[in-house]
Amino acid sequence: MPFTDILAQDHIIDHFNKAIKNDHLSHAYIFTGQDGIGKTLFAKEFAKALNCKNDENDSCNSCPNCNRIEARNHPDVFWTEREEKAKFIKIENIRNLQNSVRLSPLESGYKIFIIKEADRMNEEASNCLLKTLEEPSPNTIIILIANTMTPIKDTIRSRCQIIRFQPIPSRIIESQLTGESDAEPNKIGWISRFCNGSLANALHLLDDNHYEMNNNIVTRMTEPKMDNLVLAEELIDSYLSTGDSLEEKRQILKSILHCILQLYRDLLMVKVMNGHDVQQEKMSLYNAGREESLQKHANYLTREQITYVIDEILESIKYVDLNLNINLLVENIITRITVVNSKAREYET
Ligand SMILES: [Zn+2]
Repeated sequence: MPFTDILAQDHIIDHFNKAIKNDHLSHAYIFTGQDGIGKTLFAKEFAKALNCKNDENDSCNSCPNCNRIEARNHPDVFWTEREEKAKFIKIENIRNLQNSVRLSPLESGYKIFIIKEADRMNEEASNCLLKTLEEPSPNTIIILIANTMTPIKDTIRSRCQIIRFQPIPSRIIESQLTGESDAEPNKIGWISRFCNGSLANALHLLDDNHYEMNNNIVTRMTEPKMDNLVLAEELIDSYLSTGDSLEEKRQILKSILHCILQLYRDLLMVKVMNGHDVQQEKMSLYNAGREESLQKHANYLTREQITYVIDEILESIKYVDLNLNINLLVENIITRITVVNSKAREYET
């Protein structure tokens, strides 16, 4: 893939296109932005563009250099990654990088070092990297990939050019998925809105039963009489119990909580619209196509009750990664929502 074909990062593509043409490249970059929006892909395609034998400013994706970079076995393109199960990138990995930086490129004009999860370096590794950045070698480019900038030392940041990647707009993800998958349009539409601007996340959602789970949760939670204990048990039996490890169960629980969160954001939106324009605005609802039942349910609730539930869910999401009993967390949140619902009905009558 030429790097100019990367989705929805036009300002970045433009920047690098000019930088390559005018030979104005920095010796170090930080690519930052949320997970799954193309930072690593861009780093790889950029490395190809710099080393391609057929195209001076982009990649042909077929010459030996492009092929070897794709297969991650080009001698001048180095990948540094956190080892599986390790909490941080190890100092040895950064030392290896430091030693290789000193050598000239073997075959190409540039040596490129790509550090994945650069926001997960401990103090030692960070200091070692800083030393390398302080003494830049000619024809060497170091790319740090980081979902978040906070853990990266100021002294490292100040030596790198920071490139911020934006979430991909849902309409672009929707048209990409429509071209690649034969899933039903409603499912594709929902995934494009739910994936948070991440194509990687969207592709993952396409492969599992997330959409079906969301439909089930939304249907059950907008029923006039929701039995909290039955629903909580159902969520635990049908979804949480399918996770093999605690980590997997946590991920499933986060997904369940996000489905409920989006449902209440939709209810708030419907409430604010107060009956008009919901049909025209349905694209901005996560659960588009369910306007009628959302409206009915929103009529029962006050804005304050809806925002109360949203706050409760956001609070619960924070607790998922702590060592709490996750079944209890599900029961707790469903019970709180039921209390709000039952107060709403009392208010009605
Ligand atoms: Zn090529």
